[in-house]
Amino acid sequence: MITISHGTFATAINCMDGRAQLPVIAYLKSKYGVDYVDAITEPGPNRILAGNRDQIDLDSIRRRLEISVMKHGSKHVVIVGHHDCAGNPVDKETQLSQIAAAVETVKSWGFPCEITGLWVDEQWKVHEV
Ligand SMILES: [Zn+2]
Repeated sequence: MITISHGTFATAINCMDGRAQLPVIAYLKSKYGVDYVDAITEPGPNRILAGNRDQIDLDSIRRRLEISVMKHGSKHVVIVGHHDCAGNPVDKETQLSQIAAAVETVKSWGFPCEITGLWVDEQWKVHEV
C-alpha cells in the first residue's frame, strides 16, 4: 500500500562519501523535479550490489529501498559510483561495469520504479552510465 506523503521523492543508493551527496541530490531534483531525495548509503554500494553475495548488506539496502518506493512513492532510483572511492578502490572502468551489474541486481527485485546508474567524476559532476 502506498502512503501519500507530502512532496515527491527520488532515491539515491549512493556511497557514504560526503563529497558525493550534494551533487547527486541536485542532479535528481533538477532532472526529475522531485522535492526530496531519499538517501541509502553504503561504502561503495555499486560493489555490494554488483557482487550480489553479501546477503545482510543486500537485505538492508532492499529494505530501505522498499520504504522509499512503496511508502514515499519514489519512481526514480539511482545507483551511484564515484571517483576516489575509499570503499571501492578500483578503477573507473571496473566501477562502471559494477554500476551496470548493480542496476540489474536492483531491477531483479521488481520494485515499480525506474533504475539508473550514475557516475560522479573527479570534478564531482554527475553522468548517467
Ligand atoms: Zn565512495
